[in-house]
Amino acid sequence: MIPAVLPTYSRAPLTFVKGEGSWLIEADGRRFLDMGAGIAVNVLGHANPALVTALTDQASALWHTSNLYHIPQQQTLAERLVEATFADTVFFTNSGTESCELAVKMVRKYWSDKGQPERHKIIAFTGSFHGRSSAGIAAAGSEKMTAGFGPLLPGFIHLAVGDHDALEAAMRAPDVAGVLMEPVQGEGGIIPIPDACLKGLRDLCDETGVLMMLDEVQCGMGRTGKLFAHEWAGVTPDIMMVAKGIGGGFPLGAVLATENAASGMTAGTHGSTYGGNPLGCAVGNAVMETVADDAFLAEVNRKAALLRQGLEALVATHPSVFETVRGAGLMIGLKCAVSNMDVVNAAYAAELIVIPGGDNVVRLLPALNLTDADISEALTRLEATATALSAA
Ligand SMILES: *Cc1c(COP(=O)(O)O)cnc(C)c1O
Repeated sequence: MIPAVLPTYSRAPLTFVKGEGSWLIEADGRRFLDMGAGIAVNVLGHANPALVTALTDQASALWHTSNLYHIPQQQTLAERLVEATFADTVFFTNSGTESCELAVKMVRKYWSDKGQPERHKIIAFTGSFHGRSSAGIAAAGSEKMTAGFGPLLPGFIHLAVGDHDALEAAMRAPDVAGVLMEPVQGEGGIIPIPDACLKGLRDLCDETGVLMMLDEVQCGMGRTGKLFAHEWAGVTPDIMMVAKGIGGGFPLGAVLATENAASGMTAGTHGSTYGGNPLGCAVGNAVMETVADDAFLAEVNRKAALLRQGLEALVATHPSVFETVRGAGLMIGLKCAVSNMDVVNAAYAAELIVIPGGDNVVRLLPALNLTDADISEALTRLEATATALSAA
């Protein structure tokens, strides 16, 4: 008999009932160190007092009105994002998938309004992830996500990351509208795109007019030690998708765009009932207040270096379990020499949460405000995990 919850997930036998900072308490009382943060979502940890206050204050005042009316919290958050980034304008969504949907629509509308509706193709990359909607799975293109769901939304071209010749040729085609990339591939197994590649892509976009669309749903919001990952390369996109960390655990997403890229999106062309609701935006403002701050980001970089150093040592002492460590900031992948699911399960036994990813990787995506003591405890528990697997 089909379970009451549609069985699309394979869940771990764990039920968490409470969270405190980087710690999760299981129903049986065990305390797990959370190095996954709900898949890069709880950027300020669990039950962060500033976020709890922002949410509960807003909850007692007003939950929802819809976008038929002005929403001051949304206005404030949009202004903050515009102030802190390349963007001139912001549309709020409830998830990364919805952000990707709008990005695709925005690019097509842009060219349609320019009198070139035939220019509608979007270049995307193998190993990428852009959500589970029809556009999202067509964009990422992997068999695992698309099988059985055809016919897929047409208009996507898939290239291998690092095939510069193919990219250059594809971008010069007269029907290409945009190019969609994660600056650090997340689900694909923590694969950072080199700064020089992002720079080269920006140059090609400038030359061809193709719009540069960056999916920073996982790598954005301070995760790599800059507010957004593309800042490391010194380039700016035309359109950027955001979600996960921006709500600190409350469902919130956004599409940020330049005035030029957003020029087709006039009244009535897009909408969302919940998007930018007072609750989400109240929390988003509290997240931005903390994360969009140089001193906070400096701490993220310091902690990332500390964790990275410990992980390099761990990998060096356990070559039969871990092959390499890679990533950017607090977005780290450990490429495993054994099955990554064996590592995830052995970590559970050590009361540690890590997250599997593509390319046989386990991901560390902790709260950005984890403490030095949390880092040292994570290393201790990973050491125990590796030792248990070496003995096995
Ligand atoms: C998680 C993710 C998405 C999808 O976000 P949802 O909130 O699950 O819809 C899209 N792009 C990237 C890069 C992601 O990591």
